[in-house]
Amino acid sequence: MRHLLGIDELDAGQIGAFLTRAQEYSDALKSGSWNTERLKNKVILHLFFENSTRTLTSFEIAAKRLGADVVNWNPETSSLAKGENFIDTVDTLVSMKPDGIVMRHSEYGAPKFVASRAGCPVINGGDSWREHPTQALLDALTMRQHFGKIEGLKVTIVGDIAHSRVASSNMQLLTKMGAQVSVVAPKVLMPESLPFKEIKAYDSLEDGLPGADVVMTLRLQKERMDKALISDAAYFNEFGLTFEKLEKLCPQAMIMEPGPLVRGVQMEDSVAEDPQRSLILRQVANGIPTRMAVLDMLVGDVA
Ligand code: ASP
Repeated sequence: MRHLLGIDELDAGQIGAFLTRAQEYSDALKSGSWNTERLKNKVILHLFFENSTRTLTSFEIAAKRLGADVVNWNPETSSLAKGENFIDTVDTLVSMKPDGIVMRHSEYGAPKFVASRAGCPVINGGDSWREHPTQALLDALTMRQHFGKIEGLKVTIVGDIAHSRVASSNMQLLTKMGAQVSVVAPKVLMPESLPFKEIKAYDSLEDGLPGADVVMTLRLQKERMDKALISDAAYFNEFGLTFEKLEKLCPQAMIMEPGPLVRGVQMEDSVAEDPQRSLILRQVANGIPTRMAVLDMLVGDVA
């Protein structure tokens, strides 16, 4: 049984294989021809214990474009609200034998636990601050489409590095694929250690932005903080992206953001909407072919 639980378990070849298939689906979506019955008669269960806009919707569209049926389990209307515990909920749902599970949970490693009990592929749609592998794959697809490569790219990730699963998965994927990754965060939002020694850490935009091909900004993950570690205003003042700072520090850089974007804190509107600089909506669009590739390669191959 193959699952996708994190970038940590993939090597460069496996990442490349997902990206190749994702590019094929990206091309196919443009030309309008792909196998719309690839997942015919398969039922995909969405188990989202945390909110989602982009990930949940794009997994659903991806599954439907491949002919699968999708069941969206909802924690608020489920028996969790009547006191059933997580393990019983999971055992109940896996005993209904879906053909694939896509899940998101606030607990570290929850998808791995579900994978140990499910008789079908489990795809991690984000767990705690640990990993969000399909986000990193779609980000990589977006970079490769724009720059024609990932190897050698200089990518600076700015924001709440300590609490962000997007930072975690991207640091791993980009380093494994040969990009040069830097992270910029206020000291209180920088983790104690980074996954690879090649990753450079800075606590100011002035130090971290020069030379960047891509600047990826992340929101403050307030739901994972016990108390506010920095105010929105102080964050914007020092780490918010403005047209002026970008012109001065990295005029060539493209801007990426996994969503949700918090305007006026992570960046000013003119940056988010700058068609020359912003790849944000390309990232969203690439969620579909990337998730089609993942579903195809994991769920499509199970007899
Ligand atoms: N949507 C991404 C995630 O689920 C990023 C974020 O929420 O800031 O991790």
